[in-house]
Amino acid sequence: MARARADTKYVFVTGGVLSGVGKGITAASIGTILKARGLSVNIQKCDPYLNVDAGTLNPAEHGECFVTHDGAETDLDLGHYERFMDIELGQSSSLMSGRILREVIDDERAGKYLGKTVQIIPHVTNHIQETVAKTAKGFDVHIAEVGGTVGDYESLSFIEAIRELSLKLDPQDCLFVHVVYVPYLGASGEFKTKPAQNAVRELRGLGIVPDILVVRSEVKPSKSIQAKLSLFSGVDKNAIVLLPNAQTIYQVPLTLEDSGIGDVITGRLGIRAHQANLAAWKRVVKSALTKYRKTVRVGVIAKYLDNQDTYMSLTEALRASGWANDVNVEIEWIDAEALEKDKKNRQQLEGLDGVVGLPGFGSRGSEGKIWAATYAYENKVPYLGICLGMQISIIAMARRAGLTKANSTEFDAKTPNPVISTMAEQIGKENTGGTMRLGDWTCVLERGTAARKIYGQGEIVERHRHRYEANNSYREQYEKWGLKISGLSPDGNLVEMIEAPGHPFFVGTQAHPEFRSRPNRPHPLYTAFIKASLAKR
Ligand code: GLN
Repeated sequence: MARARADTKYVFVTGGVLSGVGKGITAASIGTILKARGLSVNIQKCDPYLNVDAGTLNPAEHGECFVTHDGAETDLDLGHYERFMDIELGQSSSLMSGRILREVIDDERAGKYLGKTVQIIPHVTNHIQETVAKTAKGFDVHIAEVGGTVGDYESLSFIEAIRELSLKLDPQDCLFVHVVYVPYLGASGEFKTKPAQNAVRELRGLGIVPDILVVRSEVKPSKSIQAKLSLFSGVDKNAIVLLPNAQTIYQVPLTLEDSGIGDVITGRLGIRAHQANLAAWKRVVKSALTKYRKTVRVGVIAKYLDNQDTYMSLTEALRASGWANDVNVEIEWIDAEALEKDKKNRQQLEGLDGVVGLPGFGSRGSEGKIWAATYAYENKVPYLGICLGMQISIIAMARRAGLTKANSTEFDAKTPNPVISTMAEQIGKENTGGTMRLGDWTCVLERGTAARKIYGQGEIVERHRHRYEANNSYREQYEKWGLKISGLSPDGNLVEMIEAPGHPFFVGTQAHPEFRSRPNRPHPLYTAFIKASLAKR
């Protein structure tokens, strides 16, 4: 077979032993160190789930649903990619099996296979390859991470697709990184490489020989692990990176760079690049590791408390805003339901320096959230309402002004005062995937408002993900409730931002600014909130 020389070099990232050991962070960090060499890098997550996108996945199980500028509802790893590589990714960077299968089936229905039997190989695998290659086009390097663990039934078509793609490429144009896990046995004081050896064998069994092993572990193993793994896996010793748990995830690119793996990758792919400039990144890590003199305590009023990945971008935005303000941000997780169940639990809000009304869906805990927004307003505690958090703050203010049954139709379909209600174009779509108001939308900020001052401009673009909105028939009452509309959609139809004049900081946005926050460039709205919380302290 004639092999085509590709303009783009591919780095395929797979995982063995078990999932959840930081394959996404590893892929993102490889992106960081390659980008630091002046290369243009794109990145993509291939998710084996049969879902079409992450929009319908339970965030408590799966972690946050990250939203791209073009409105794709994706796996939270895309958030890591964007923050680590400081790029904006699109729909094409999130590839779920459901989407691939749907497209193949649509083609079948459209008669595109000309009477052929439609099969996983070659039709599904070809379609994956085409989609990966299309996403890679025009970049120096493309990183494709395959989710899950190699050997899983579900990811087989992705593994086969990247294997076939590698055969079509010049050997110098692609490489395989396998992320494995090495457990430590406390009783005998040893690191055990057997599961990792088996994981490599599993990958080889599927026709892929790894070029690089990234070895995750709880604590730092001795160097002899590299020699042992090299012997059993056939991977060159200097292409085996030890990656013990880091104090902060932001340290991972520096650990990778120190291991020399960046040069192994460029050398192996025949890329001529200049030396990595990680100065900006080193500042991020330094901030993340600094113990500041002052600490602000921020309460986040949450529906899900078991899995903090549920609000990943938001908590990262809060932390980075702390660094920008030279303070530690201590996040207090407050169970919204507990606030409504027992008044004693409400003491948890005493002494907080700021309160965040989180994004969310469904009525569970809504009364607790409304109470918390009311508390923040009345006690002059800075309040930042994000998406649902803004809607909650509007309900809270309406109730204070006497509309005691004010609510969102999301929580109470029969409320006499639906101050938040379904957007006209959303009626009837309540439980369907991919139908919300998604991605980038423009908002025009009102002169003289706090929002305008914070953003420093009259027109902003933020990412969205919502179905409900402030009901326009109540707008005239806002002033009486103590609220000001500070941002509207350009046609004036949709309330995008609100604030409470006279309060130190009571700001709500229908958008999700956290998706655009970066560790080195925290979002101004979050930074302003932390600053206000610091002033409250
Ligand atoms: N559930 C609300 C809506 O659909 C808020 C969504 C969110 O917080 N992302 O409008």
